[in-house]
Amino acid sequence: MQDADTICAISTGSYEAAIAVIRLSGRDSFDIVKKLFRPASGKAFSKLSPRRMYFGTIEEGGEWIDEVMLSLFENPHSYTGEDMAEISCHGSLYIQQRILDAVTRHGARMAEPGEFTKRAFLKGKMQLDQAEAVADLIASDSKASHDLAIRHMKQGYGKEIEELREGLLKLVSLMELELDFGEEDVEFADREELLSMLRKLKERIGSLLESFRYGNVLKRGMPVVIAGKPNVGKSTLLNALLKEDRAIVSEIPGTTRDSLEDEMVIDGIRFRFIDTAGLRTTSDVIEGEGVRRTYNKLSQAGIILLMAETAESEEEVTALVQDVRKRLPESNAGIFLVRNKSDIQAASRKDNLPDGIPGFSLSAKTGDGMEALITAMQEEVRSMKTGDLVVSNARHAAALQNALEAAERAEAAMQENLPGDLVSQDIREVLHHLGEITGHITTDEVLGRIFKDFCIGK
Ligand code: GDP
Repeated sequence: MQDADTICAISTGSYEAAIAVIRLSGRDSFDIVKKLFRPASGKAFSKLSPRRMYFGTIEEGGEWIDEVMLSLFENPHSYTGEDMAEISCHGSLYIQQRILDAVTRHGARMAEPGEFTKRAFLKGKMQLDQAEAVADLIASDSKASHDLAIRHMKQGYGKEIEELREGLLKLVSLMELELDFGEEDVEFADREELLSMLRKLKERIGSLLESFRYGNVLKRGMPVVIAGKPNVGKSTLLNALLKEDRAIVSEIPGTTRDSLEDEMVIDGIRFRFIDTAGLRTTSDVIEGEGVRRTYNKLSQAGIILLMAETAESEEEVTALVQDVRKRLPESNAGIFLVRNKSDIQAASRKDNLPDGIPGFSLSAKTGDGMEALITAMQEEVRSMKTGDLVVSNARHAAALQNALEAAERAEAAMQENLPGDLVSQDIREVLHHLGEITGHITTDEVLGRIFKDFCIGK
C-alpha cells in the first residue's frame, strides 16, 4: 500500500551548494520522473534498474534544466518503504526550484516537515523512537550527541521496550480472558509471574529514567553555572574557558544579557555556560530579584563553579558552599570550588573542602591551573553515565515516567488482591505508555494475541 500522495522536497536544504538532492516518495514517483529525466545512455526509462545511479538530463518542454544523477528505489526497498526517486542536481537555487516546480507540476506535492520519515514509520520501516533518532542525528552537533543518535538508530531501547511490553501483554491478555468467565473461578495468568515481570519492568524503566539526565546533557550540553561574589573573576574565567583553542565557541543570543549563554565543546562534550549576577555570602544576602534569579539559574546547573579568591578564608568559602547547598536541596549538581587569582595570591590552604567539594586553585588571567578544572568537568559528565542505553528524548522520558507510575499502581493493586479488571486497567496503561515510545497501538493487539497464542476451544 502506498500513500495516495506523492511527495517531494529538496532534501539538502534550500541554499546554494555544489550539489542538491531532490527527493520524491509515493506511488507516482517513477511516472513523474519518467516525464522529466532522459538517460544519457539512451536507455529506455522502463529499463532503468532500481538502486543504481543514472546520469542524464532533466528536461521540460524540450528545454534542458540540468545534468543530473538519478536513483530509483522500488518499494519496499527504500527509506520510506514507498517508490522513491532521488535527483542529484547542481546546487544552484534556481535549478533546485525549477526541478521542484517541474515535479510538482507533474503531480507531486511538497512534503511536510519530517514527512519522509513519518512515512517510513507508518510503513513499518522503523519504530517511532528510531524515527526520532533520525531527527536527532540530523541535529547532532558534537561527538556525544552524534554517538547517541547513532546508537538509537541502530538499536535504541525500542526493541527492549517492545520485548518487555510483549511479555506483559501476554499476561494481561490472559487476565482479561479470565474476566470473560465471569463467576467461574479460573486463573489463566500466573500472578507471581506477573508480579515479577512488573518488578523487572519497574527496575528497567527506573534505570532508563535515570539515564535521562545524562542523555539530556549529551544532547543539549552540560549546564555550567559560574557563581561567586562580584569581582572574583567570573567573567574572566568564562572568557578563559571559551578561549581554549580546541573549543568550538558559539554564542546563543538571548533577548537580554540576562539569558546570554556561551557554549563550547571539549573532546566531544558540549558545555553550556550560564551567566549569573554576583552572589553574596549568607551574612549579607539581600533577598532581591538578582539573588533569586541567580539561584534559579543555579538550580538548572549540572555543574556549579563556585568562585572565590585564593586569599579568601576557609570559613568564608565554606559559608558560600553551605548557602548554595541549603538553598538548593534538590540539586544534584556537582559543586566545584574555584579559587581564582593564584597568580597574585598565595594558596596557603589545601584546595579541597572537608565535605567532598573538590577545590581548584587557578588563575583565570594567566590560564594557570585551568587544565585540572576542565578535566574535572569532563569527568563529572562521564560519571553520569549509568548504562549503555541512554534516554535523551523528553517525550520518551515522560512516557517512561507515566509507565512507571502505572506499573506501581498495578503492583499495589495486585498486592492488595484487587479484582482482575482493576489490575488489568493499570497494566493497560503501562502498555499504552510504553507503546507511545515505539509507536505501537495496543487495543486490537490484545485480542489478536489471545487468539493467536491461545487455543480457547482446547
Ligand atoms: P566578576 O565580577 O566576578 O565577573 O570578575 P571579573 O572577571 O570582572 O574580574 C574582576 C577583576 O579581577 C578584573 O580586574 C580582572 O582582571 C581581575 N582578575 C580576574 N581573574 C584574575 C586572575 O586570575 N588574576 C588576577 N591577577 N586578576 C584577575
